[in-house]
Amino acid sequence: MTNRFSEASSLQLKAIPAFNDNYIWLLHNAHQAVVVDPGDAQPVLAFLAHHQLDLTGVLITHHHNDHVGGITELLRHYPSVPVYGPALESIPKRTHAIQADDIVHLPELACRLRVLSVPGHTSGHVAYFGHNDLNEPFLFCGDTLFSGGCGRVFEGTAAQMLDSLNQLAALPPQTLVCCAHEYTLSNLNWALNVEPNNDDLHDYYQHAAALRAEQQPTLPSTIELELRINPFLRTHIPEVQLSASSYSSCAASNPTEVFAQLREWKNNA
Ligand code: ZN
Ligand code: FE
Repeated sequence: MTNRFSEASSLQLKAIPAFNDNYIWLLHNAHQAVVVDPGDAQPVLAFLAHHQLDLTGVLITHHHNDHVGGITELLRHYPSVPVYGPALESIPKRTHAIQADDIVHLPELACRLRVLSVPGHTSGHVAYFGHNDLNEPFLFCGDTLFSGGCGRVFEGTAAQMLDSLNQLAALPPQTLVCCAHEYTLSNLNWALNVEPNNDDLHDYYQHAAALRAEQQPTLPSTIELELRINPFLRTHIPEVQLSASSYSSCAASNPTEVFAQLREWKNNA
């Protein structure tokens, strides 16, 4: 139960839980599947076997082990499967080095994905954006954008990360956002301190808490929802700016500084 495509679509989205809080996303039709960021092979192999799906591609957003750790084992079962990964990073078993604006063709799924360069969490991080057969848009964004939050800035700069998030924020509002971690509730707990007067945020917190109580994913999110509730996409909002500057006891003079203050606050939350 993850799919948010219309029922008439021949494609489906599935979030396979892995480790503590990772999701390994699968895009599949009745027979074939591509997998995104398989940090662990076992849950993917089990899902493929249970649903009698053939693996036809692996998409990687960045080099961290919780995203690439299962590639080698998957390839032992599916030796000829292409592995797409960012050209700027070292990815095990990569067959296709990709960069900004490349198109990944998935003929088995009758689907094409556009590669977005979204550095910040890592320096070569990419995201994949596409549409299903009903023209419904979706995004695999790895550890760049989370629901109510964003990835830690490990290798890039705050300015790069904000640019990357702005690029994602400009995608169609109805885009389904497939993030690689279930961090939503802890992000929203923090976001409520940033924007205690945001009614959409309060409503979404209730919704997300109910889903987690049933052990359901809160994802995929949408760009439209994130624009209303995610402080990292709201550095232009006065209440966000005020909260960020009062946390760091200094006024920010531009959006990058607001972003950096928020990121620092969240790191210490
Ligand atoms: Zn990561
Ligand atoms: Fe991760």
